[in-house]
Amino acid sequence: MDFSLSPEHQALKDMSRRFVETEFPREKILQWVRDKVEPPREAFLKLGELGVFGFLLPPEYSGLEKVDPTGMVVFVEELSRASSALSTHYGRAAVIVGPQIARFASQAQKDLVLPKVVRGEVQLALCLTEAEAGSDAAAISTRAEEQPDGSYLINGTKMFNSQIESAGFAVIAARTDPDKPKHEGITLFLVENPGQRPEIEYHRIETLGLAMIPTYSIAFNDLRVPADAVIGGRGNGWKGLLGGLDNERFYHGAIGVGAAQGIIDLVLDYVNQRIAFGKPLGRLQAVRHKLVDMQMAVDSARLLTYRAAWKLEHEGSCHKEASMAKVAGAEAYMMVSHQGIQLLGGFGYSVESGLPMHFADAKMFEIGGGAMEIQRNIIAKEMGL
Ligand SMILES: Cc1cc2nc3c(=O)[nH]c(=O)nc-3n(C[C@H](O)[C@H](O)[C@H](O)COP(=O)(O)OP(=O)(O)OC[C@H]3O[C@@H](n4cnc5c(N)ncnc54)[C@H](O)[C@@H]3O)c2cc1C
Repeated sequence: MDFSLSPEHQALKDMSRRFVETEFPREKILQWVRDKVEPPREAFLKLGELGVFGFLLPPEYSGLEKVDPTGMVVFVEELSRASSALSTHYGRAAVIVGPQIARFASQAQKDLVLPKVVRGEVQLALCLTEAEAGSDAAAISTRAEEQPDGSYLINGTKMFNSQIESAGFAVIAARTDPDKPKHEGITLFLVENPGQRPEIEYHRIETLGLAMIPTYSIAFNDLRVPADAVIGGRGNGWKGLLGGLDNERFYHGAIGVGAAQGIIDLVLDYVNQRIAFGKPLGRLQAVRHKLVDMQMAVDSARLLTYRAAWKLEHEGSCHKEASMAKVAGAEAYMMVSHQGIQLLGGFGYSVESGLPMHFADAKMFEIGGGAMEIQRNIIAKEMGL
């Protein structure tokens, strides 16, 4: 058993750290958070040139030698040190929706979307959640009705659709066959430039964190899509969605690990320099024990995350392991951002420290992409409970 990174992954880690420190310094991130704007596309185009969007895409699109889940984890850890929002920006295209398209879409759809994803040119959006269908995602009621000419008319409302207004493409889940069992009547549709479609109404939802990642409630009013917008065949939507969920889960593990490690490194510097009662804070046992607990939570989550990536690469699936990585990563991030503020005292509570941003962002990973309780249900089932 070898716990070290390969020379290639170590080089990727070093390159990513340098890139993130240069392109995403804290002042810039905090400005984008204050302005509630999406991160600029230019930085992601540069990342496209570095080849980091293709880790989970087929080599014929990515130009890499093989699919590389560990590479994705290495990169996401580094990106998340600056901001977990940046990683959600990166990963919706590179980790969640892009690989879904690679697995289920037609050749023409793949050729249309994936080269743009690899170049970092487009954001992708996933329109699944509805007001009455979140954890129970297969309960969606948005309808897509086939017309005599083979096209579909989509009507209904969705909740929490992140970055859909600026996305190059959206994948929309809608019910085509309401008489079939709920998991069998869902179809996925590919829609280009959804922000330019007047038949979609957008309302931005104010959220606790992830200020750089606008999320919307949207309404489809007779959105017409051609027959060839169907992804993976009518009624196969649930299968298409399921395929992407494990990716999203261990990638959320990597986000939690990277963001939390960045916080720990900042806190370590601070407590070694800050003098109170005649000595550095880091000499106080209560402070030291807190930091030890923080590092152990992050290391545990890191091991679970790399194991999930390894299982996916070597055994083709990582269902239980991906949920474990997500729970451990999200909970470590929440705990470390909370305790990090405590250890930095008043400075920790200031926006300038960056920790309030992390504290607010961390909460999303305990809810989005499957809440902690849902992950524990999955793990319990896999354990035979
Ligand atoms: C910022 C943000 C961005 C998002 N972006 C997107 C997006 O781009 N596209 C998209 O489709 N969706 C998106 N989502 C939706 C997200 O995936 C859902 O919020 C999530 O799946 C939970 O669904 P819900 O909010 O409806 O909560 P509910 O399903 O109503 O659950 C509420 C709470 O009840 C508990 N619970 C529910 N079911 C169970 C159970 N079986 N056992 C035990 N406890 C349970 C959990 O604590 C859960 O947190 C986003 C959400 C957020 C907050």
